[in-house]
Amino acid sequence: MKPTLKSTRERERRAPSRRVLTGNTQKPGRTSAHPPLLVFGAHPDDIEFGCGGVIARETLTGRKVHFVVCSRGEAGTHGTPRQRTAEAKKAAVLLGATIEFLELGGDAHLEIRAAHAIQMAKIIRQIRPGTVLAPSFVENQHPDHARLGKMLRDAARLARYGGLKELRRQKPHAIQQLFFYAVTPEAEPAEISPVLVDVSAPEIIATWQAAMEAHVSQVSNRNYVELQLTRARLLGTRAGIGHAIALFPNEPLVFESLTQAGRGARQF
Ligand SMILES: [Zn+2]
Repeated sequence: MKPTLKSTRERERRAPSRRVLTGNTQKPGRTSAHPPLLVFGAHPDDIEFGCGGVIARETLTGRKVHFVVCSRGEAGTHGTPRQRTAEAKKAAVLLGATIEFLELGGDAHLEIRAAHAIQMAKIIRQIRPGTVLAPSFVENQHPDHARLGKMLRDAARLARYGGLKELRRQKPHAIQQLFFYAVTPEAEPAEISPVLVDVSAPEIIATWQAAMEAHVSQVSNRNYVELQLTRARLLGTRAGIGHAIALFPNEPLVFESLTQAGRGARQF
């Protein structure tokens, strides 16, 4: 059963970081033993286009997922900030995630600053995720994406430091993994071997597609949905499955045993 917009509740926090939270999340009757997944996006549609299938996969198994969107897309050519905020909220509901908006100077004005990384670290301490997903740090696309990715690397580290005075109200928290997602193929970091997430199940593809299509102001101008589904299809076919999304680990992954390692993607 899909959550409805009616079950969404919202509360605004005016200060100090002007965060806006929208609630509702897990599909009823399903819970996960895994700590939450925390996902950052620079613009209202980045998460859905970059890794929406992964989100659908995780919430399907009952994992709590929270989105932090760091602008309202106000510099975009199409759609007003209000429209784009509404589209992002709708997409989050479709994916079964909660969402908040973090104001860091606005679309196309994101700067790498310690104060911003500290604000992100604060959210990490509040949500206490196992895994954090961030946009790739590769440049040569929207500058906000790479800057946010780089700051998340810092934020994940600052979240675990005990002595930071700005964060002393929250208990330090060490995440388990930081993965980068690539909003476009050009943003895939060539120097990192990706981990592929199988998103082939029809239910997952349908949820992902609906979440991307919720960004009406964007998909009515370019065929972003087809781009992402084709990308996932190509990656999946190369790995011998239907569809896959690549995530790029910030550091080597540790397995307790090789039985946890899945299998290699080479099929051809
Ligand atoms: Zn973007």
